[in-house]
Amino acid sequence: MGEDQTVIIAGAGQAGGQCAASLRRNGWTGRILLAGAEPHPPYQRPPLSKAYLAGEIGEDRLWLQPRETWADQNVDLRLGVTATAIDRSAKTVAFDDGRTEHYDHLVLATGSRVRTLPVPGAGLEGVRYLRTIADVDQLRADVTPDKRIAIIGGGYIGLEAAAVAKKLGARPVVFEAMDRLLARVAVPELSQYYLDTHRAHGVTVELGAQVAEISGKGGGLFGGKKRVATVRLADGRSFECDSVLVGIGILPNQEIATGAGLATDNGIRIDAECRTADPAIYAIGDCAEQENWLTGTRVRLESVPNALEQAKHAAAAICGTPAPRPDVPWFWSDQFDLKLQTAGLVGQQDTTLRRRPADTEAGHFSLFHLKDGVLIAADCVNDAHGFMAAKAMIAARAKPDQADLVNPDVPMKDVMKAALGR
Ligand SMILES: Cc1cc2nc3c(=O)[nH]c(=O)nc-3n(C[C@H](O)[C@H](O)[C@H](O)COP(=O)(O)OP(=O)(O)OC[C@H]3O[C@@H](n4cnc5c(N)ncnc54)[C@H](O)[C@@H]3O)c2cc1C
Repeated sequence: MGEDQTVIIAGAGQAGGQCAASLRRNGWTGRILLAGAEPHPPYQRPPLSKAYLAGEIGEDRLWLQPRETWADQNVDLRLGVTATAIDRSAKTVAFDDGRTEHYDHLVLATGSRVRTLPVPGAGLEGVRYLRTIADVDQLRADVTPDKRIAIIGGGYIGLEAAAVAKKLGARPVVFEAMDRLLARVAVPELSQYYLDTHRAHGVTVELGAQVAEISGKGGGLFGGKKRVATVRLADGRSFECDSVLVGIGILPNQEIATGAGLATDNGIRIDAECRTADPAIYAIGDCAEQENWLTGTRVRLESVPNALEQAKHAAAAICGTPAPRPDVPWFWSDQFDLKLQTAGLVGQQDTTLRRRPADTEAGHFSLFHLKDGVLIAADCVNDAHGFMAAKAMIAARAKPDQADLVNPDVPMKDVMKAALGR
């Protein structure tokens, strides 16, 4: 299949790597050029703010598959090169190493980049971000015992980094501009739970804390750049620190699509098969915006399950093989000894119910979000059973019995079976 044809995948991350592997698994025998801007073979990012930052695993454990497997699969893996422009009529992609390559199918898997902090002092030595292996390799020295690290942004990345920093003996202070943590992605009850958890572990959290400026010290004529020393807030308070980690969100890498005349909004617009308006060009992963099959709204998801699923869909569309069934969007986050698993998309609920499983210790619970009685999302903290049951019910647009859902004496599998009519 695909003999004499070329698939170019621009972006060799989670989605791009999976797409190349899925193409081969689906029987694609044509050429696959997988080109990535980073010097590393395709790798997973979730451990960057978890086990890799903690120094518990090495770089090779991040890789999607061993480096030599790409060659075994006859994937032309080209690293350290950036796709700069697409010529849609000639069906070519130009790269920053001067080469131009022809494609029959092009997959944009360019991911996203960090949103940079727009305040004076953001360019000082010691201001860090957390997106790549290189970022974490720099950050490691800042999460050593007694180092004061100012973490700007109380989202998942900032909180995961705070948990690791605390575990390693550093002194993290989280500055969140909103009045609660995880404000963009979680209901207030979950925000409060994570606030309490972080404070109980000794992480300092400042809410409503708008960072206005970072000031530095040192540097000078021969001494190199000034290094961060103080974070100053809009309300006038200031905090001394040894380094700053900024985690204030990401932006989709969609400019190459815009430049080629493809529709973009908050991500490159794609259909259910991950195709753009140009039938030869697909977009997958963090860079893509797609109508969600459950909510009917256009969303750009920033998660591994989404990157993998869209990669498989694009590969199936290219090969003409059956696409996997669409999955319920889901996400996880590890902080301290808590594993949060979120299924579905939080936001449109009219009711949230809390359930604490009877057979587990305190700290294990789930929040179920319903709209007109239909389960649309769930946040499950150390509750894998609740998560699996919720995912199945969300997929079926089921209306679980609400009294049973909050009753820890009714096992989740029974709640699910009744709701699914099994
Ligand atoms: C620290 C961290 C922790 C995370 N934790 C979780 C988690 O716990 N659970 C979860 O579900 N998700 C998590 N995520 C999100 C998840 O990693 C992303 O959603 C996922 O990596 C998206 O895959 P992608 O292939 O779209 O993008 P990426 O994996 O970012 O890959 C895109 C690649 O394309 C390259 N590129 C960009 N432009 C070009 C170009 N023009 N030419 C060539 N190459 C280009 C980039 O350099 C990059 O290497 C985390 C992310 C981070 C940063």
